[in-house]
Amino acid sequence: MTTNTHNQQQNVTRPLEADESVPSLAGIHTLAERESAILAGEDAADHRQEAADKREDAADQRQEAADQRHEAAERRQEAADKREEVVRAEDELSVRHKEQLREANESLIIATVHAQTMAETAKKATAQMAYMAEHDFLTGLPNRALLTDRLAQSIVLAQRHGGGKKVALMFLDLDHFKHVNDSFGHEVGDQLLQSVAKRLHECVRHSDTVSRHGGDEFLVLLAEVEDVQDATLTAEKLMQAVARPHFIGDHQLHVTLSIGISLYPDDGMDVATVIRNADVAMYHAKKNGQNKCQLFTPDMNVRATARRSVEQALHRALDQHEFVLHYQPKVNLETGAIVGAEALIRWQRSARRLVHPAEFVGIAEECGLILPIGRWALHEVCRQTQAWLQAGLDPGLVATNVSAAEFHGKDFLAGVRSTLDDTGLDPHHLEFELTESGLIQDTVQTTEILHTLKGLGAQIAVDDFGTGYSSLSYLWRFPIDELKIDQSFVQAICGDAGNAEAIVSAVIAMGASLKQRVVAEGIETRGQLAFLQSRNCGEGQGFYFGRPVPAEQFAALLASNRHLPTTPAKRRLSQKVGQPTGKNVTPSILAENKKA
Ligand code: C2E
Ligand code: MG
Ligand code: MG
Repeated sequence: MTTNTHNQQQNVTRPLEADESVPSLAGIHTLAERESAILAGEDAADHRQEAADKREDAADQRQEAADQRHEAAERRQEAADKREEVVRAEDELSVRHKEQLREANESLIIATVHAQTMAETAKKATAQMAYMAEHDFLTGLPNRALLTDRLAQSIVLAQRHGGGKKVALMFLDLDHFKHVNDSFGHEVGDQLLQSVAKRLHECVRHSDTVSRHGGDEFLVLLAEVEDVQDATLTAEKLMQAVARPHFIGDHQLHVTLSIGISLYPDDGMDVATVIRNADVAMYHAKKNGQNKCQLFTPDMNVRATARRSVEQALHRALDQHEFVLHYQPKVNLETGAIVGAEALIRWQRSARRLVHPAEFVGIAEECGLILPIGRWALHEVCRQTQAWLQAGLDPGLVATNVSAAEFHGKDFLAGVRSTLDDTGLDPHHLEFELTESGLIQDTVQTTEILHTLKGLGAQIAVDDFGTGYSSLSYLWRFPIDELKIDQSFVQAICGDAGNAEAIVSAVIAMGASLKQRVVAEGIETRGQLAFLQSRNCGEGQGFYFGRPVPAEQFAALLASNRHLPTTPAKRRLSQKVGQPTGKNVTPSILAENKKA
């Protein structure tokens, strides 16, 4: 038993050996002993099994405990990792926060600096705008607004002096400035204006004001003068200063000034009147030959008022169809045949009053009415020419005068096209007369318009040739068919003054070499005609042949002309010088001339 117990105890602690699975039966002698031995063996085996199971359970529990420990350790590690992560995140966050804070501070500083700079810029811009509102961009001189302000102040000061002091205002305009712009370009024109501005500024006292009104107009305010002589002396100084040559680039330019002067209180009691009257006086200085200084006189306003009333009357004239066209024949100087006519506008102001263009075309050009008037004239020329053609008369080439403002107006070509469509006239019967100054404006656009007119079939004439100020280069740059020698040269032929003959001969020769027809305008005498024929001038126009006449009279002239013989120029001339035959066109037109 003792052994068994010992064995059992041993079995609990040590693994079962293979040869120990069944208790040894050696030495067991009885069945009962054997059975009890077997039972004891089985018990022992059960105990061993139980012990093994318990060992296994204990091992499992150990393993489980170890697993739990391991798991706990992992969780601890995880928690530690998380803590570390949180700490790291917190660190990162604080770094980022600090960074953001730093950036925000920087932005704040930059924004503050910007705000300051912007405030300064805005301040500068405001100051600049204020300056610009009161000064002329090109010359830096005070502008009209500032001058008006200073004139008002000067008038108030003069009033305080109790009538002892006067204020003088001068209206200045450069003569022929447009030609400078047209001939040398706007850049040179601008530099010339700057040069003029500088000289004007140098001529006046610090208390006086020189201002530019735009274009070539300047105003000079003499804030305090004793009498009118002070103003005229300054005006002369200004004119002399401006007349000295201006060196602009490679050019040496000469310009003159026309000046109008008006005084407070003599010529006006308020700013507007003083300025207006200086303007009126300047207009008279221009009309009286330019490069002049003119003091305002009250009768000038009478004329200015008359001018305004012409303007109003012109509006009415358009509405009430008071314009008519007269036709002056153009004659072939060799054959005496009528080769065409020039249409000249007249204003039938009343049944007995026919107004000539010199009295209204200039005003119409200035106030813009020339555009509708010109449209009417073109339509009427086309309508009448077509009517003659349909009646079997051949008027040749019929010319219409076109002002620069019309020619450069935006609807000019469209107007020509629609008029031709409307009247059905073949443009080969139509000629446009343009002056040199009208042609040389904006040469690119001019070339385009002229080519379009030529493309339609119409012809181009340069009117009053020789009186412009342009270079001759345009003669071959533009598609020109005809040069009309200005009547001032023609009428000077055989006269005492100058060498008109040389100029006329030169123009005729130039036209011949450029293959342009030359028409002498304003032929009034046989002597002029003879000279022109001796120089082979192609065509002529003038009172010698006939004055402008209404359409019906011109039609009658055309009808009679068809039967007239064409005689050689020299013979015809000798006939005329001797006794008119009545068969030649010239005497018949001459009769018309006498009637007129
Ligand atoms: P212009 O185109 O040079 O026309 C010639 C002017 O000289 C005409 O004056 C004509 O009557 C005049 N004349 C013709 N032969 C002689 C002559 O032998 N001796 C003299 N002393 N004069 C002669 P008018 O009709 O008074 O026209 C003056 C100017 O008015 C024209 O000069 C032209 O520039 C302008 N004009 C006429 N009609 C129109 C028109 O329909 N539209 C435009 N824009 N201007 C026109
Ligand atoms: Mg003309
Ligand atoms: Mg002319």
